[in-house]
Amino acid sequence: MGFFFRKKETTLVEKTKLPSLLCRRLRSSVWLEHWTFNPGVEGSNPFGAIQMKIIFLGPPGVGKGSIAKEIEKEKNIPQISTGDLIRSAISSNSAIGNKVKEYYDSGKLVPDEIVIDLLKERISNDDCGEGFILDGFPRTIVQAESLDNEIKIDKVISFTVSEETIMMRISGRRICESCGAIHHLINIPPKVDGICNCCGGKLIQRKDDTREVIKGRLVEYYQKTEPLINYYEKNGNLSSIDVEGDLQKNVRDTLNVLNHKNSKT
Ligand SMILES: [Zn+2]
Repeated sequence: MGFFFRKKETTLVEKTKLPSLLCRRLRSSVWLEHWTFNPGVEGSNPFGAIQMKIIFLGPPGVGKGSIAKEIEKEKNIPQISTGDLIRSAISSNSAIGNKVKEYYDSGKLVPDEIVIDLLKERISNDDCGEGFILDGFPRTIVQAESLDNEIKIDKVISFTVSEETIMMRISGRRICESCGAIHHLINIPPKVDGICNCCGGKLIQRKDDTREVIKGRLVEYYQKTEPLINYYEKNGNLSSIDVEGDLQKNVRDTLNVLNHKNSKT
């Protein structure tokens, strides 16, 4: 009787495990079509394919958020912004969340170690099993060094564009009040004036999407973040993509780089 019970239990477990295993296998084989099979490489998943741990670098207004959203769908890996991490930590009421809240409420920057702890926690979630896209972090050499000590990044993509294009992109940007979808008067025009294509919500221009504010952010970017391009170039995993073109072209170029990430661009 005891044996029978155990056997039955085992069968049950196997049955419930099966769909998710099958799903992972299917996902993995689809994925392998696009990725170099490279067993034994550090950071590889149990099926032997490489994870995509990616950093998107680029000035504000370069459009990396929009590109990341498309890559997220295409590659089934989440885009992680540290701003979102900090906001969700604060609303979680966890021990670390309360610490973050203290810094936030007193107007201080959240220390890098805490941000990296949040990041480590976030990427341990199931949806990061095949990788992730970091958008907006690291912003400084010090942050990049701390990140390197904790997480092995596979690919860094630097998006480049002229300052004029940045100005045009940001001043034309409109955000949906309800769902946060990003539109652009020229590049991603709303089908109906002032109305979100995704949910029908109202489109607004953010207060800091003006030329004056963006000038200031660009200066900060050139001083603190642009040196990261050299930093990652020395590490040998940097590719640059010119994103003067439209979103579709930029997404295609990005996918090309990611799909051939072992070759230098
Ligand atoms: Zn919307």
